Amino acid sequence: MRPVRLNGALVNRPEEIIEAMRGLRARGFVVGTVGNASVRIADGLRITPSRRDYDAMGPEDLVDVDGRGRVLHGGHRPSRELWLHLAVYGARPDVCAIVHTHSPYATAWSFLGEPISPQTEEMSYYGIGRVGVAPAAPAGSPELAAAVAGSLGTAGAVLLHGHGVVAVGADLATAVTAAEAVEHQAHVGWLLRGAPAPLAWDGDVHTGEGGLTWRD
Ligand SMILES: [Zn+2]
Repeated sequence: MRPVRLNGALVNRPEEIIEAMRGLRARGFVVGTVGNASVRIADGLRITPSRRDYDAMGPEDLVDVDGRGRVLHGGHRPSRELWLHLAVYGARPDVCAIVHTHSPYATAWSFLGEPISPQTEEMSYYGIGRVGVAPAAPAGSPELAAAVAGSLGTAGAVLLHGHGVVAVGADLATAVTAAEAVEHQAHVGWLLRGAPAPLAWDGDVHTGEGGLTWRD
């Protein structure tokens, strides 16, 4: 997925938005028409439509929306998480692509309401940082949008309490990789929780700080 530059922002081609969601669904990160993706455009954002089959979706089905949520182009309703996407772009000028998934391990961890442990190497390697947890709020609500934008901070992803993951990047490939890294991290975390003598790793393999402790 090679992004193109438009008015200083990196913008993926429309086909790449659909390819990203098809790929995430094929890997079990979303089910059916659930999940959504967007890229920043000059006047706002371009986002997947609400409740449309990714296999039947074409570039013409994507919806262009301005910075205030008004539809500029497109015959469908935008994803109901439109406000979340707008809030993130507003808070993070460096972000030009967003994917929202319900990948199983990360979603399971989101119900704990705590950051994922351990801090796996991928989180440092891809510069994702520490992934926080946005407080629970109804899907599609302005409250959720504000919570996600606030909890994301400068990280490459954030968990939504009891819901799923929002991953961001300068382009779609980066956002998708962040979603994959968070799912991997949560998978490792669950494996450690299920170990006969559960381990708690609070270290950072990148900086060498922290380390491994055994829980009683
Ligand atoms: Zn969702």
